[in-house]
Amino acid sequence: MTHPTKDFKVAVVGGGMCGLLCGIGLVRAGIEVDVFESAPKFEEVGAGVGLGPNAIRALDGLGVLEAVLRRADEDVPTLRPFRFLAGVGEHEHVYNYPVSAEDSGLGIYRPAFLEALSPLIDPAFVHFGKRCNSISVTTSGTHLLHFEGGSIHEADLIVGADGIKSVVRDFVVDHSSSSRLVYSNTIAYRAILSAQSLKEAGVKTDLQTQPLCWLGNDKHIITFPVQAKQMINIVAFASDSQTSLGSVTVPPPWVHSASKEELLNVFAGWGADAITLLQQIKNPSKWFIHCMHPPLRTYVCQRVVLIGDAAHAMLPHLGAGVGQGFEDVFTLCKILGHCQTSAGNINNALEAYDSIRAPRANMVLQSSSSQGRIYEEFLNTHGDRLETQKRLAGTWEPVWHYDLAGEVATLLENMYGH
Ligand SMILES: Cc1cc2nc3c(=O)[nH]c(=O)nc-3n(C[C@H](O)[C@H](O)[C@H](O)COP(=O)(O)OP(=O)(O)OC[C@H]3O[C@@H](n4cnc5c(N)ncnc54)[C@H](O)[C@@H]3O)c2cc1C
Repeated sequence: MTHPTKDFKVAVVGGGMCGLLCGIGLVRAGIEVDVFESAPKFEEVGAGVGLGPNAIRALDGLGVLEAVLRRADEDVPTLRPFRFLAGVGEHEHVYNYPVSAEDSGLGIYRPAFLEALSPLIDPAFVHFGKRCNSISVTTSGTHLLHFEGGSIHEADLIVGADGIKSVVRDFVVDHSSSSRLVYSNTIAYRAILSAQSLKEAGVKTDLQTQPLCWLGNDKHIITFPVQAKQMINIVAFASDSQTSLGSVTVPPPWVHSASKEELLNVFAGWGADAITLLQQIKNPSKWFIHCMHPPLRTYVCQRVVLIGDAAHAMLPHLGAGVGQGFEDVFTLCKILGHCQTSAGNINNALEAYDSIRAPRANMVLQSSSSQGRIYEEFLNTHGDRLETQKRLAGTWEPVWHYDLAGEVATLLENMYGH
């Protein structure tokens, strides 16, 4: 384990995929860290997550890619080109998103990601069962975390990695700001099923070779293989495109169980393979997807900084949310870990973080919403393949082909010189 070399200490609120990664990255950068997680252990929803080339580069840059690959059952990241097909009729082929050798990605079971990473942090730095309620700042500028049950923790810098319902965000968001977490008018039904059982049920479409996007009207389905391609992650989306964003409030909890009948009703009229696939889902979970709208102008306030969904909860239509969180972590660790960053200039360091992370992640957030409209306006174009191909072409390029390491290096050069 690296011994702390910095004269400041950091508290990370939340031990999800981004918070845990951040804890590891900061310790390796020589910073004293405590991670506070409200759950009794590291835990994730039992579903898959797709990681694009930019997410892979961030993991590599933080030195954890090998550990992740071991749990992903893949020796190296693989090409994962999306294939688009019609959700209705005969499931006509629409488009293969073109990829090059450098566009390798990964599909991983979320709990496996946490299992890969958790041995990389000293358990002494992780505190479970600690739900943060609020943050305050003393007159001398010390930042205090207040936990359920009354305990308090002092830190020089607080990282909010507490996900979509972030309480740390409440400290960062200026109350005059119009930016808030809103219901996206989209529901996601999620399940994970064995590839073999789907074949046996009569699904003819190849679900194991590559991720698929089944296009429709106000609906689409994403499938991709995980766990050595033996399991298929399924997310079926249904949206209300007629209602304006932010006009409907959904009371928590935002995750329910749903019946198979409800799911089949929502997708009534879809093609035979899609229906056979959905029929195999006995107990779908139903998620009311929320997102930041409009995006936060800044991810930083005083010595409190947001990463991951706490900063930029977005629709999952580019499969890019956690990748943006990994980019946040890479950036924060490189800036805070720089040999010239110290307690005396943390505020400048956070300003630098904000200057590249907010514009970049907010761009991806907005592109994710536009991407969903392409998937769910397929029938508006009367199933026009060429029109849909044109709209889809190049949509992942700004997400995947971004030189984060180069941008951070330039930023550090501008801050500190050579
Ligand atoms: C249907 C769906 C599909 C998706 N697919 C993809 C995909 O394929 N690719 C992709 O990149 N992204 C995808 N995403 C987005 C991705 O899931 C999120 O971006 C990612 O999980 C965010 O990670 P996080 O660590 O920021 O937050 P979380 O994973 O939510 O972790 C937050 C952690 O903080 C803890 N916590 C919360 N509040 C407190 C508190 N007050 N005090 C202490 N601890 C607290 C929680 O227990 C949790 O462990 C998808 C999202 C959805 C909904």
